[in-house]
Formats: sequence, C-alpha cells, structure tokens
Amino acid sequence: MLGFGPKVETTRGPFTLPPLPYAYGKNEPAIDTQTMRLHHDKHHAAYVNALNQAAASGGSWTGKPLQDILSRLSRVLGSVRTTVRNNGGGHANHTMFWQIMGGRGGRPTGDVATAIDRDLGGFTNMQSAFNDAGAKIFGSGWVFVTVDRAGKLALTTRPNQDTPLMDSQRVLFGNDVWEHAYYLKYQNRRADYLKAWWNVVDWSRIGQRYTAAKAGTLTI
Ligand code: MN
Repeated sequence: MLGFGPKVETTRGPFTLPPLPYAYGKNEPAIDTQTMRLHHDKHHAAYVNALNQAAASGGSWTGKPLQDILSRLSRVLGSVRTTVRNNGGGHANHTMFWQIMGGRGGRPTGDVATAIDRDLGGFTNMQSAFNDAGAKIFGSGWVFVTVDRAGKLALTTRPNQDTPLMDSQRVLFGNDVWEHAYYLKYQNRRADYLKAWWNVVDWSRIGQRYTAAKAGTLTI
C-alpha cells in the first residue's frame, strides 16, 4: 500500500501502524489536513503503541490476528484485557476508517447499492439513520454498517473504541465520532461533520470490502 509523508515511528512489537493510503489533504475540505495528521500520526499511533506495550507482557494472544484477539478478549490476561480492548479496538477501527475514506463520495453502485436498498431502506434512508445514530452517541464512539457472510447489512453503534469485531461480526464501513475526529474544524457541530463525511467515502473500496465479506476474507 502506498504511504504518504514520513514513516511514523511506533514502538516495536507485533502490531504496526499502517501508513495513510493517500495524502493527508485528500479529504479536504470535509476533513482538514491537520486533523488527518493528528488523527493518524498521533491518535492511531498511540493505540498501536499501547497495544505493543500490552503484548510485551506476554500471552498466547499476541501472535493471533487482531480480529481473533478482539472476538476472544476473555483469553487475554486480566491485567491487560481492558488495554487490549481499548487499543486493539482503536487499532482495528482506525485501520478500517482510513481505508474507506479518500474517495469522492457520491452513491454506491452494484452489490453494495442493492444490499443497502434491501436491508437499510435505500441510500437516503441509510444515510439519515447513520447520521442520526452518530449524532446520538453520548460521548465517544463509532457508528458502523456491519455485513455478514450472506451479505446482509445492519446499522449499529459502539461506545469508546469497541467494535462489532468483538461480537465476531464484520464491519463494512464506519465513522468515528470521537471529538478528535472533527473538533478542530467543526467544534461542537458533530452533525455537520457527519453530513460532510459522506463526501470523502470511497464506495469502490467499500465495494471491495463487501465482496471480501461474502468470500469470508474480510478481516478488519
Ligand atoms: Mn479516532
């Protein structure tokens, strides 16, 4: 994957920060360059660092794929379980998040469009339900559309850095409503951020994730 900007150093360990797959300014004006830099290079990096630090305490979980760790958190040593939940969730959520942005918005096509019509009442209804759900999250969290092996979609939210991966589900796409995702540009106007975010969604990338989900190869 092509990365932009200097490589961001993270601590050594089994988990690595994926480079942003496009320039930091690619999501302007919906998401400003400074927010993208801080969000990727500082916030996401911090989740990776904390996860590696927890991995240094050992345990068989450290060698497993992230989605498997998150779906079996009870197997993680109690003293680091909350750390792994928060930072492993943060790592997975943000890895998905960078992938599905950097696009030009518009409307989905093909199988994803058909699935949205069938399961979520059509594109316009889905967008408005997604924005409402995101606006209603009290404090920090995420709004997601999940996809199962049959290709069925569902709208859901999670607090903090929790993810549907913790319930062995798969995420088709999602939006981050933590204040760090929008506060520099939008301050308290989360609803405006949620609305503008659709302009940078990459539907072709989401279409690839949909195909992978049905093939059982979608990881995070
Ligand atoms: Mn975030």
